[in-house]
Amino acid sequence: MSIDLEVPRKFEQLVDQAHTVAVEVLRPISRKYDLAEHEYPKELDMLAALIDGLDDGGGASGAGAAGVSQAAANGDGGNRNGSNMASVLSIIEMCWGDVGLLLTMPRQGLGNSAIAAVADEDQKQRFAGKWAAMAITEPEAGSDSAAIRTTAVLDGDEYVLNGEKIYVTSGERAELVVVWASLDLEVGRPAIKSFVVERSNPGLKLDRLEHKLGIRASDTAAFILDDCRVPKEDLLGDPEIDVKKGFGGVMRTFDNTRPLVAAMALGVARACLEYTREQLAEAGVELDYDRPANTQHAAAAELLELESDFEAARLLTMEAAWMADNGKPNSLHASYAKAKAGRSGVDIALRCVALCGSAGLGEEELLEKWARDAKILDIFEGTQQIQLLIIARQLLGLSSAELK
Ligand SMILES: Cc1cc2nc3c(=O)[nH]c(=O)nc-3n(C[C@H](O)[C@H](O)[C@H](O)COP(=O)(O)OP(=O)(O)OC[C@H]3O[C@@H](n4cnc5c(N)ncnc54)[C@H](O)[C@@H]3O)c2cc1C
Repeated sequence: MSIDLEVPRKFEQLVDQAHTVAVEVLRPISRKYDLAEHEYPKELDMLAALIDGLDDGGGASGAGAAGVSQAAANGDGGNRNGSNMASVLSIIEMCWGDVGLLLTMPRQGLGNSAIAAVADEDQKQRFAGKWAAMAITEPEAGSDSAAIRTTAVLDGDEYVLNGEKIYVTSGERAELVVVWASLDLEVGRPAIKSFVVERSNPGLKLDRLEHKLGIRASDTAAFILDDCRVPKEDLLGDPEIDVKKGFGGVMRTFDNTRPLVAAMALGVARACLEYTREQLAEAGVELDYDRPANTQHAAAAELLELESDFEAARLLTMEAAWMADNGKPNSLHASYAKAKAGRSGVDIALRCVALCGSAGLGEEELLEKWARDAKILDIFEGTQQIQLLIIARQLLGLSSAELK
């Protein structure tokens, strides 16, 4: 089957709406919340209600991470464009506006993706409409998420969680935190489960908020879990330890969220490219798509190279989302997309800063901010190096024990 990678017609309105929001709401407050780190962007409350409306009306959820899940295998052989494609397309537009603000959009957290991917029907209903953050990372466990030390011990009808979680995006502002913990540290990966913890739970103690290079509009929290009691129905997925399944359930989330992070990188990169093209045009340098790059102004040739990198990343991202919508296993392609878009995003942003001279570095313009914002997109949800490792394992047919 061939893949048509134009924007599907049914999502054109969604893309237009997301772009309008980016222009009218996000860009105007972008610098304000970059400077006012840790201050809640109250303008987003009104926007969140609008996004809920988009999700309800579009036939596919769209403006953030809330609705993405892997479709069932597509038996009829037809072509489906669903919530993954809708989310990728609208995230590109919103992050063209401001990625930090998108990351702190109510009810669109990465925890919402985990719930969408792994929760049963009852849980989906109970947690519907709530904002969920995701807490995997610990001081001694980042890239190697199987090394987490947070424990969950069943006590009557509740699990008791103990441990420490760091770098939780939206951890302060969300209503729920999806926490990864081990039912049995001896067993390793198969014993790792995710638990939905109410943010108001007294056992979930906010330790601090981080000060960061970029995405300063988004809060990044550290928590202590101190005898944190969670109803046993709030374990996501299967409570049994199935040694044959390994990491299965929890890792499935990443197949859905990595293309979304790739989309964030694309949004930031496109903002940089468009701004730089305007700057070059003002300086009398026009790009000519009909002439070889090496016969053009050096700045035009460089921008052409960056644009082609952007396009490659965009196609890989749309392919990964399309596969998820059509029930095709997309772990490999999700990592292709994240690796390419994450790296290209940083490269494009920094080289645009250089091409724009003082306009690239000055705080009167947003380009220097976009360059700072881009870096995290090549780090969270699996760093550049980890994506390459996953790709190598899959291509070579090696397990995580065989290729570390
Ligand atoms: C702003 C921000 C927001 C975040 N949000 C969240 C969130 O919401 N939830 C959450 O759970 N986590 C979150 N994270 C954590 C993020 O996912 C981790 O930082 C990331 O997974 C890397 O882990 P680490 O920082 O411990 O680095 P490490 O794992 O210590 O890695 C350090 C370096 O070594 C490299 N490396 C590690 N292992 C290998 C290997 N086997 N082969 C080659 N190179 C390797 C890495 O690529 C990296 O360059 C966030 C982080 C930040 C900074």
